[in-house]
Amino acid sequence: MGATDDGALGEVQPRLTVAITEAREAKRPPRESGLFRVVVAGGGVAALEAILALRELVGRRAQIDLLAPNPEFVYRPLAAVEPFGLGEVQTISIDQIAADIGFVPHRDLLESVDPGRSAVITAGGCELVYDALLVAVGARAETALPGALTYSGPESNDELRALLDSLRAGNLRRLIFAVPPLARWALPLYELAVLTARYARREGIAADLLLVTPEAEPLELFGPRASEGVRQLLAIEGVGLHPSVAPAAVRDGELRLASGEALEADAIVALPRFLAPPIPGLPQGPNGFVGTDGFMRVDGLSGVWAAGDITWFPIKQGGLAAQQADAAASGIANRLDPAVEMRPFTPVLRGALMTGWTPHYLRAPLRRPAEGSAGTTAPLWWPPSKVAGRLLAPYLGRLRDVEPASPPLEDLGSPTETSLAEREADHQDALELALTAADLDARERDCVAALRWLEVAEHLNLTLPPEYARKRERWIAQKAMQGPEAR
Ligand SMILES: Cc1cc2nc3c(=O)[nH]c(=O)nc-3n(C[C@H](O)[C@H](O)[C@H](O)COP(=O)(O)OP(=O)(O)OC[C@H]3O[C@@H](n4cnc5c(N)ncnc54)[C@H](O)[C@@H]3O)c2cc1C
Repeated sequence: MGATDDGALGEVQPRLTVAITEAREAKRPPRESGLFRVVVAGGGVAALEAILALRELVGRRAQIDLLAPNPEFVYRPLAAVEPFGLGEVQTISIDQIAADIGFVPHRDLLESVDPGRSAVITAGGCELVYDALLVAVGARAETALPGALTYSGPESNDELRALLDSLRAGNLRRLIFAVPPLARWALPLYELAVLTARYARREGIAADLLLVTPEAEPLELFGPRASEGVRQLLAIEGVGLHPSVAPAAVRDGELRLASGEALEADAIVALPRFLAPPIPGLPQGPNGFVGTDGFMRVDGLSGVWAAGDITWFPIKQGGLAAQQADAAASGIANRLDPAVEMRPFTPVLRGALMTGWTPHYLRAPLRRPAEGSAGTTAPLWWPPSKVAGRLLAPYLGRLRDVEPASPPLEDLGSPTETSLAEREADHQDALELALTAADLDARERDCVAALRWLEVAEHLNLTLPPEYARKRERWIAQKAMQGPEAR
């Protein structure tokens, strides 16, 4: 661009900036006068947990505006069970949650932050001024191992179903589940391997399944006792384990490993790597992740917090995202009311590995994995949930009408070896009771009651056994045929 062009632009630019600012201000949604205004960007686990925590800490003393492009909250971690016919991805309307908890939803995207003016600019051209901003926009899943099926949630389910169809048709037999380097939350891949093994057995399909991971021990973040349990689970299910080596590339029907070895495979399933998109005005480090202190305050900015997959924390996991959100909410509440104590992020990892029947629960304080529990089929926290959000898990249970009240999620003490067996047996009894009650009601042609019992069983167990997932479809159809008097 020449000097004259520069000069002309130099004159136009300030007027343009003023015009854009005026236009945005005209579109600025009103603030309830005098209220402390919190803007939350994101419509996932961290955002909703933070809003629930804020309501718990400061009640209605804050106006909360939520910016999210998605009309529904999608409970992604249960996505993997869907192609195996074990359940469905739960979705809940954000407007419904907004009406219930009390926040203002905006179907829009955070585009940039203007920290100098304590304002965010949205993709729709709005400007929202904040007293506190929480950035919880998650991260974008990208292929880590080109040539493999990258499993990143519900959007990968069609590809996964096609792979299972090919397995059933006998078009492939050797399947490798590959944990790419830096995929620290590897549990979903163990889950896929175990679910595939069970599926193959159920359908009478011959399959050679192998899990390849850079971890020295299976799911080593949970500590040695849990790893031993997962190792046994893989062995029982017939999934081979190739630990301590990173998958490097997929080529010519082989998985090449960083060690130079090559493993033949008809198909490879891998986890994604994560990146955060640029948000101007927000300091972002490598791969776009946002640096914070232990209270989730964004480095270098005042009045701005971040939580969840967008942050620098290397383990991208919903339970941890919720814990970060709780820490951020306490900091925001403290800014509004100094009497509220700020709580730091003290990570405890809780995971429920879906097996096709009873989940395998695991728990460990991240900084002391040696204190982690052994895996158990009885829940290690209540309510049982795939994403162990302190407030989100009970809230979702209440929305589905399966938790009568919503006291915060609570750890159930680590069982000793004897109490573990007792607890597992009690849990199994409770589950069987719910399923038997469902069958009895169905026999009486009371589909409504039968379906209620299935909800209870699903809540206790996170998924239904395959035959009950099929029964549920049948009973839903029968209920529809019985007409409105059945409701
Ligand atoms: C296959 C799979 C299985 C998993 N299993 C488990 C599990 O068993 N247990 C567990 O705890 N975790 C699990 N996770 C991880 C868990 O889903 C994530 O860690 C968690 O969802 C992160 O929460 P978040 O709120 O940071 O991000 P997300 O839940 O991804 O939410 C981000 C939100 O921000 C919105 N958004 C994006 N950009 C913008 C923007 N510019 N402005 C405003 N909003 C925006 C998105 O639409 C979305 O609503 C699993 C993940 C995958 C992929």
